[in-house]
Amino acid sequence: MIEIKNLNKSFGNNKVLKNINLNIKRNETIAIIGPSGSGKSTLLRCLNLLEIPDHGEVRIDDSYFNSHHSHKEDTLKFRQKTAMVFQGFHLFQNKKVIDNIALPLMVVQKMKKDKALKYAEEFLDMVGLKEKRHVMPQQLSGGQQQRVAIARALALNPSVILFDEPTSALDSELVGEVLDLIKKVSIHTTSVIVTHEIEFARDVADRIVFIDEGQIIEVGKTKDILDHS
Ligand code: ADP
Ligand code: MG
Repeated sequence: MIEIKNLNKSFGNNKVLKNINLNIKRNETIAIIGPSGSGKSTLLRCLNLLEIPDHGEVRIDDSYFNSHHSHKEDTLKFRQKTAMVFQGFHLFQNKKVIDNIALPLMVVQKMKKDKALKYAEEFLDMVGLKEKRHVMPQQLSGGQQQRVAIARALALNPSVILFDEPTSALDSELVGEVLDLIKKVSIHTTSVIVTHEIEFARDVADRIVFIDEGQIIEVGKTKDILDHS
């Protein structure tokens, strides 16, 4: 369960998020849509504290952030509630595919190496890339790299996965395999997906949030939002 209350974020004089309020239920899939520059990425980044909100509160399960009292240890704990999938994959290019998944488990969750490798292999299998475990990311297609990034996010067992335009960097013929995987994943996880793929949003999202100029303009059930616009 995620609660976002009165969230505000500015960069200098640029008010990028203006009083965002939103509750997200466990296992819900939210699609965030809106024009370029409207604050979608900043909202996701505030949910994992890659950006620190100026005002407001965010609760993710038992972790709580409040702009008035923030402590470094709390921030680290809070961050572990989320995993992010970026437009540009953000894999470690100098590490083998399997290590891209195992290393965060060892570093962040202090998992033993044997266990982390076994775990990584299971998640690679789940995204259909077990046979690629010993190659370097550059040897994979963009769609395959993004599937590795999704496996890495899932392996961390976060309360919510944040997807920031996960298919925008892909050649069109590779978009489908990634959307299919996200659709499968989102059935069992709480997901917030920033996307321009309206048909995908219609297919996968329980609710749509439409953002413009840093404000939530509309929020509602997917059918209600997309069928009247
Ligand atoms: P979207 O993802 O909807 O395209 P963003 O959240 O990336 O929008 O950006 C919203 C606004 O915030 C834009 O005006 C952008 O220039 C500004 N912005 C985003 N990140 C930063 C930053 N780190 N420093 C300064 N301005 C930023
Ligand atoms: Mg963005």
